[in-house]
Amino acid sequence: MPISRVMAFLAHPDDTDTYCANFLKTLAGAGGKKISLHCVTRGEHGLAANRDPRKEEFRGTRLGRIRSEELKKAAEYLGIPRENVYFLNIEDSRVREAPRTAYRKIRRSIEENRPDLVLAPEFYHAYYLHPDHVHVGMIVFIALRKLGYPGKIFLYHSINNNYYHPVTTTDVVKTAVGFHVSQEDLFRFLLPLHVNVEQVIHGMHLRGVKRAEAYRVTSTDEPQTLGLKSRSVARIYSAFSGKS
Ligand SMILES: [Zn+2]
Repeated sequence: MPISRVMAFLAHPDDTDTYCANFLKTLAGAGGKKISLHCVTRGEHGLAANRDPRKEEFRGTRLGRIRSEELKKAAEYLGIPRENVYFLNIEDSRVREAPRTAYRKIRRSIEENRPDLVLAPEFYHAYYLHPDHVHVGMIVFIALRKLGYPGKIFLYHSINNNYYHPVTTTDVVKTAVGFHVSQEDLFRFLLPLHVNVEQVIHGMHLRGVKRAEAYRVTSTDEPQTLGLKSRSVARIYSAFSGKS
Protein backbone atom coordinates (compact mmCIF):
# COMPACT_ATOMS: atom_id res chain seq x y z
CA MET A 1 0.00 0.00 0.00
CA PRO A 2 1.54 3.32 -1.00
CA ILE A 3 2.11 5.86 1.76
CA SER A 4 0.24 9.11 1.16
CA ARG A 5 -0.31 10.81 4.53
CA VAL A 6 2.54 11.07 7.02
CA MET A 7 2.11 12.57 10.47
CA ALA A 8 5.10 13.31 12.70
CA PHE A 9 4.56 14.15 16.36
CA LEU A 10 7.06 16.25 18.30
CA ALA A 11 7.20 17.20 21.95
CA HIS A 12 9.37 20.25 21.17
CA PRO A 13 10.08 22.20 17.97
CA ASP A 14 13.59 20.74 17.42
CA ASP A 15 12.84 17.03 18.00
CA THR A 16 12.27 15.77 14.47
CA ASP A 17 15.01 17.97 13.01
CA THR A 18 17.43 16.25 15.37
CA TYR A 19 16.30 12.66 14.93
CA CYS A 20 14.30 12.40 11.71
CA ALA A 21 15.59 15.09 9.31
CA ASN A 22 16.97 12.62 6.75
CA PHE A 23 13.94 10.32 6.75
CA LEU A 24 11.48 13.21 6.50
CA LYS A 25 13.48 14.88 3.70
CA THR A 26 13.54 11.60 1.77
CA LEU A 27 9.76 11.13 2.22
CA ALA A 28 9.09 14.72 1.14
CA GLY A 29 11.46 14.41 -1.83
CA ALA A 30 9.65 11.30 -3.08
CA GLY A 31 6.56 13.47 -3.68
CA GLY A 32 2.89 12.53 -3.68
CA LYS A 33 2.57 12.65 0.09
CA LYS A 34 1.07 15.03 2.56
CA ILE A 35 3.52 15.30 5.43
CA SER A 36 2.46 17.20 8.53
CA LEU A 37 4.28 18.04 11.75
CA HIS A 38 2.33 18.19 15.01
CA CYS A 39 4.29 19.88 17.75
CA VAL A 40 2.64 19.33 21.12
CA THR A 41 4.39 22.24 22.89
CA ARG A 42 6.09 25.34 21.57
CA GLY A 43 9.22 24.72 23.63
CA GLU A 44 8.77 27.99 25.47
CA HIS A 45 10.88 26.81 28.41
CA GLY A 46 13.77 25.79 26.13
CA LEU A 47 17.10 24.79 27.65
CA ALA A 48 19.11 27.55 26.04
CA ALA A 49 16.83 30.08 27.65
CA ASN A 50 17.40 28.45 31.01
CA ARG A 51 21.14 28.24 30.70
CA ASP A 52 21.92 31.76 29.61
CA PRO A 53 20.70 34.54 31.90
CA ARG A 54 20.77 36.99 28.97
CA LYS A 55 18.10 34.90 27.29
CA GLU A 56 15.83 34.94 30.33
CA GLU A 57 13.78 37.73 28.79
CA PHE A 58 12.91 35.44 25.88
CA ARG A 59 11.36 32.73 27.98
CA GLY A 60 7.67 32.01 27.78
CA THR A 61 5.40 33.15 24.97
CA ARG A 62 8.13 35.07 23.17
CA LEU A 63 10.50 32.09 23.04
CA GLY A 64 7.54 29.90 22.00
CA ARG A 65 6.88 32.21 19.04
CA ILE A 66 10.55 32.23 18.04
CA ARG A 67 10.80 28.45 18.24
CA SER A 68 7.55 27.93 16.30
CA GLU A 69 8.99 30.00 13.46
CA GLU A 70 12.29 28.10 13.62
CA LEU A 71 10.40 24.81 13.15
CA LYS A 72 8.43 26.20 10.18
CA LYS A 73 11.64 27.33 8.45
CA ALA A 74 13.29 23.96 9.07
CA ALA A 75 10.18 22.20 7.74
CA GLU A 76 10.34 24.19 4.50
CA TYR A 77 13.98 23.17 4.11
CA LEU A 78 12.94 19.51 4.41
CA GLY A 79 10.25 20.01 1.75
CA ILE A 80 7.28 20.26 4.14
CA PRO A 81 5.08 23.35 3.60
CA ARG A 82 4.92 25.62 6.64
CA GLU A 83 1.09 25.38 6.58
CA ASN A 84 1.53 21.71 7.47
CA VAL A 85 3.18 22.57 10.79
CA TYR A 86 0.66 22.49 13.65
CA PHE A 87 1.01 23.34 17.32
CA LEU A 88 -1.16 21.71 19.97
CA ASN A 89 -0.25 24.38 22.55
CA ILE A 90 0.29 22.22 25.61
CA GLU A 91 2.68 24.00 27.98
CA ASP A 92 6.32 22.99 27.56
CA SER A 93 7.52 20.50 30.23
CA ARG A 94 3.91 20.00 31.41
CA VAL A 95 2.56 17.34 29.04
CA ARG A 96 2.25 14.79 31.83
CA GLU A 97 0.19 17.27 33.84
CA ALA A 98 -2.28 17.72 30.99
CA PRO A 99 -2.65 14.17 29.64
CA ARG A 100 -6.38 14.41 28.89
CA THR A 101 -6.08 17.66 26.96
CA ALA A 102 -3.06 16.31 25.09
CA TYR A 103 -4.93 13.09 24.32
CA ARG A 104 -7.98 14.94 23.03
CA LYS A 105 -5.91 17.19 20.75
CA ILE A 106 -3.67 14.39 19.49
CA ARG A 107 -6.64 12.12 18.80
CA ARG A 108 -8.48 14.87 16.94
CA SER A 109 -5.43 15.60 14.79
CA ILE A 110 -5.14 11.90 13.90
CA GLU A 111 -8.85 11.74 13.00
CA GLU A 112 -8.48 14.82 10.79
CA ASN A 113 -5.31 13.69 9.01
CA ARG A 114 -6.00 9.91 8.74
CA PRO A 115 -2.31 9.02 8.45
CA ASP A 116 -0.86 5.86 6.94
CA LEU A 117 2.55 6.45 8.50
CA VAL A 118 3.22 8.00 11.92
CA LEU A 119 6.42 9.17 13.56
CA ALA A 120 6.51 9.77 17.31
CA PRO A 121 9.05 9.93 20.14
CA GLU A 122 9.97 6.60 21.74
CA PHE A 123 8.05 6.17 24.99
CA TYR A 124 9.29 2.88 26.38
CA HIS A 125 12.69 1.86 25.08
CA ALA A 126 14.37 5.17 25.75
CA TYR A 127 17.47 6.32 27.53
CA TYR A 128 16.57 9.96 27.19
CA LEU A 129 13.58 9.96 29.48
CA HIS A 130 12.31 13.49 28.98
CA PRO A 131 8.80 13.36 30.45
CA ASP A 132 7.38 15.35 27.49
CA HIS A 133 8.84 12.87 24.98
CA VAL A 134 7.66 9.83 26.91
CA HIS A 135 4.15 11.19 27.38
CA VAL A 136 3.73 12.42 23.81
CA GLY A 137 4.89 9.04 22.46
CA MET A 138 2.60 7.12 24.78
CA ILE A 139 -0.45 9.31 24.17
CA VAL A 140 0.04 9.07 20.39
CA PHE A 141 0.30 5.28 20.67
CA ILE A 142 -2.84 5.00 22.83
CA ALA A 143 -4.82 7.29 20.52
CA LEU A 144 -3.75 5.31 17.44
CA ARG A 145 -4.72 2.05 19.13
CA LYS A 146 -8.14 3.38 20.18
CA LEU A 147 -8.75 4.58 16.61
CA GLY A 148 -7.76 1.19 15.18
CA TYR A 149 -4.86 2.63 13.16
CA PRO A 150 -3.56 -0.26 11.05
CA GLY A 151 -0.24 1.24 9.89
CA LYS A 152 3.31 1.40 11.16
CA ILE A 153 4.57 3.70 13.88
CA PHE A 154 8.18 4.87 13.61
CA LEU A 155 9.42 5.70 17.11
CA TYR A 156 12.51 7.91 17.11
CA HIS A 157 15.30 8.16 19.66
CA SER A 158 14.85 4.57 20.78
CA ILE A 159 17.41 2.12 22.14
CA ASN A 160 15.72 -0.91 20.56
CA ASN A 161 15.80 -0.05 16.89
CA ASN A 162 14.78 -2.28 14.01
CA TYR A 163 14.87 0.13 11.06
CA TYR A 164 17.80 2.17 9.83
CA HIS A 165 17.55 5.01 7.34
CA PRO A 166 20.84 5.78 5.56
CA VAL A 167 22.46 9.16 6.14
CA THR A 168 24.56 9.97 3.09
CA THR A 169 25.52 13.48 4.17
CA THR A 170 25.65 15.16 7.54
CA ASP A 171 24.51 18.38 5.85
CA VAL A 172 20.80 17.55 6.23
CA VAL A 173 20.68 17.27 10.02
CA LYS A 174 23.16 20.13 10.43
CA THR A 175 21.11 22.43 8.21
CA ALA A 176 17.77 21.41 9.76
CA VAL A 177 19.03 21.86 13.31
CA GLY A 178 20.74 25.10 12.26
CA PHE A 179 17.33 26.75 11.95
CA HIS A 180 16.85 26.36 15.70
CA VAL A 181 19.05 29.34 16.44
CA SER A 182 17.54 29.92 19.89
CA GLN A 183 18.78 26.48 20.96
CA GLU A 184 22.32 26.82 19.67
CA ASP A 185 23.83 26.53 23.16
CA LEU A 186 22.31 23.07 23.41
CA PHE A 187 23.19 21.91 19.91
CA ARG A 188 26.79 23.05 20.16
CA PHE A 189 27.49 19.97 22.25
CA LEU A 190 24.51 17.78 21.34
CA LEU A 191 24.87 17.81 17.55
CA PRO A 192 28.49 16.55 17.33
CA LEU A 193 27.57 13.70 19.71
CA HIS A 194 24.51 12.86 17.68
CA VAL A 195 26.24 12.95 14.29
CA ASN A 196 29.57 11.37 15.28
CA VAL A 197 28.45 8.85 17.89
CA GLU A 198 24.74 7.97 17.65
CA GLN A 199 24.42 8.13 13.86
CA VAL A 200 27.73 6.29 13.38
CA ILE A 201 26.66 3.47 15.71
CA HIS A 202 23.35 3.17 13.81
CA GLY A 203 25.27 3.23 10.52
CA MET A 204 26.98 -0.05 11.46
CA HIS A 205 23.67 -1.79 10.73
CA LEU A 206 23.81 -0.79 7.06
CA ARG A 207 26.29 -1.53 4.30
CA GLY A 208 27.85 1.23 2.26
CA VAL A 209 27.05 4.19 4.51
CA LYS A 210 28.80 5.48 7.57
CA ARG A 211 25.76 6.90 9.36
CA ALA A 212 22.08 6.17 9.81
CA GLU A 213 18.96 7.39 11.58
CA ALA A 214 17.37 4.68 13.68
CA TYR A 215 13.76 3.87 14.51
CA ARG A 216 11.78 1.28 16.44
CA VAL A 217 9.03 0.42 14.01
CA THR A 218 6.01 -1.02 15.70
CA SER A 219 2.22 -1.19 15.34
CA THR A 220 -0.71 -0.87 17.69
CA ASP A 221 -1.28 -4.63 17.88
CA GLU A 222 2.26 -5.36 19.09
CA PRO A 223 2.70 -5.66 22.86
CA GLN A 224 4.85 -2.86 24.26
CA THR A 225 6.98 -4.69 26.76
CA LEU A 226 10.25 -3.50 28.24
CA GLY A 227 13.30 -5.48 27.13
CA LEU A 228 16.28 -6.23 29.36
CA LYS A 229 18.18 -3.22 28.03
CA SER A 230 15.27 -0.88 28.73
CA ARG A 231 14.77 -2.26 32.24
CA SER A 232 18.44 -1.73 33.03
CA VAL A 233 18.33 1.79 31.68
CA ALA A 234 15.18 2.52 33.68
CA ARG A 235 16.90 1.27 36.86
CA ILE A 236 20.01 3.37 36.25
CA TYR A 237 17.87 6.39 35.45
CA SER A 238 15.79 6.03 38.60
CA ALA A 239 18.96 5.60 40.71
CA PHE A 240 20.34 8.88 39.37
CA SER A 241 17.10 10.83 39.33
CA GLY A 242 15.99 9.63 42.76
CA LYS A 243 12.69 8.40 41.36
CA SER A 244 11.48 4.89 41.95
ZN1 LIG B 1 12.46 17.49 22.87
